[in-house]
Amino acid sequence: MKWGLIGASTIAAEHMIGAFRAVECGEVVSVLSSSPDRAASYAAGHRVAHGLSDLDALLGDDQIDAVYISTTNEKHFPQAMAAIAAGKHVLCEKPLAMHVADAAKMVRAAEEAGLVFATNHHLRNAGSHLAIREAVQAGRIGDVLSLRVFHAVYLPPHLQGWRLDNPGAGGGVIPDIVVHDADTVRFHLGEDPVDVVAIATSAGMGQGVEDSVMSVWSMPSGATVMTHESFTHRFAKSGFEIHGTEGSIVARNVMTQQPVGEIILTTEAGTEALSFSTHNLYHRAIGLFCDAVNGQGRPSADGADGVKSLAVAAAVTKAAETGQRTAVDYGGI
Ligand code: NDP
Repeated sequence: MKWGLIGASTIAAEHMIGAFRAVECGEVVSVLSSSPDRAASYAAGHRVAHGLSDLDALLGDDQIDAVYISTTNEKHFPQAMAAIAAGKHVLCEKPLAMHVADAAKMVRAAEEAGLVFATNHHLRNAGSHLAIREAVQAGRIGDVLSLRVFHAVYLPPHLQGWRLDNPGAGGGVIPDIVVHDADTVRFHLGEDPVDVVAIATSAGMGQGVEDSVMSVWSMPSGATVMTHESFTHRFAKSGFEIHGTEGSIVARNVMTQQPVGEIILTTEAGTEALSFSTHNLYHRAIGLFCDAVNGQGRPSADGADGVKSLAVAAAVTKAAETGQRTAVDYGGI
């Protein structure tokens, strides 16, 4: 299997190119940048054979089976639609698009073309989250009452570009982090948020976009979810808690790209630390994507998962803007 990278991005450089190579389910043969010079230097710097600046040239290469899209968010939709039209399988970064309707179009187009389409939601691949989910599904905390996500972090200086000042490129903490939390909550609870309330703020890092948000979501089961996302919190470690009728799981430092953290389960029997696998999150995602292309199983987060995480984020944005409790519109997906 051969991959084309659409986007000469930081995430590809820091995580994905190494992950494609580690998993050995394919080879990265091309990278696309909007700048020919940057395409050439990025390709040379990452040992990729071709650095291109013409999307049609990349998609016209018959040896490429799949593309990984990691450009800024406003480009995902047209690039994914072009890749699908060219018959390529797609692994797309989150958020899938700027609008739920566009994301739904991408997913339906891939389905109709018989292509694998996945969303790069890394957290559901973490050993920590897999262990938490297993404990919940085994009934160790009884019926779920509530879930709290602490994902207020500090945006590292090298990522402080379009995320902080370019709403047109999909900047803001809601498109950036709420989508991940929505996917993680859906992964654990196996149900989709019904409606949300939210307050978003900017402490000055965000220029024309929010840099912090808190929201509360209602779930079909009656469980309540509370989440906090931010770019401005230097010292608050991330966390994830699920509370049930028979126990509570409190996990710290698990809303991260690294396979780290700790998980504590408390029940009437006492308190215990849950062990978990420390495999690389992105390796697992790519491995499952390749298996799906080979006709086995499904990607860890598929296209519908990406549409739904975006739909929750869109509802959080609208709720924060209007001050109203806002129903989540999943765009028919
Ligand atoms: P970057 O800002 O690094 O890259 C986005 C685009 O910006 C690139 O495609 C590139 O354009 C341009 N660019 C990057 N670096 C430079 C530079 N030095 N000079 C000029 N242009 C540059 O974004 P990220 O890698 O942080 O994010 C990309 C996507 O990945 C986003 O959709 C984001 O939400 C997602 N993401 C997902 C993560 C996950 O864990 N799933 C983690 C981080 C990001 P061009 O290609 O035209 O050269």
